[in-house]
Amino acid sequence: MNCEHSPLEVFRYCPKCGSPGFTPDTEKSLKCESCGFRYFINMSASVAAIIRNKKNEVLFTLRKHNPAAGMLDLPGGFVDLGETAEEALVREIKEELNLNINKLDYVGTFTNKYIYGEFEYQTLDLVFNCIVDSFSELQVADDVSGYVFRDPASVDTSEIGLDSIKKIVDYIH
Ligand SMILES: [Zn+2]
Repeated sequence: MNCEHSPLEVFRYCPKCGSPGFTPDTEKSLKCESCGFRYFINMSASVAAIIRNKKNEVLFTLRKHNPAAGMLDLPGGFVDLGETAEEALVREIKEELNLNINKLDYVGTFTNKYIYGEFEYQTLDLVFNCIVDSFSELQVADDVSGYVFRDPASVDTSEIGLDSIKKIVDYIH
């Protein structure tokens, strides 16, 4: 079943030639009847960081914007074009929290459906345990409105905004 915000439902015209004959070809592609162009719907890569303090509590951020404004999130974001996951993580943690990562270890991946502008982006969240130099420079910015250190076992999934983050928190506690 496709979500109404899926590219399969939302896209109407061929992005290459402008023809209105641009229709679903498979469950993950659309094809233009006029020029033959095929568009494949791929997952967007994103990263999430698990950063713990000395009490083993996890640093959660508060989302500034929708989707899920005001709810708990993990630091991170979308991987830019041409960027590695590790570079994206270092950049996002600096942008959102002004923290410097000096060690990161891969944990695993989790999927999410992210609706933005009434359009569904399916994402693959790459999760890393991150060690930071120090918390002394911690300062929120960018798309984060605040932060809180919490024992992940004490966090109810209803407090978390995004499905992939719920799965991650469930996995780590
Ligand atoms: Zn076309």
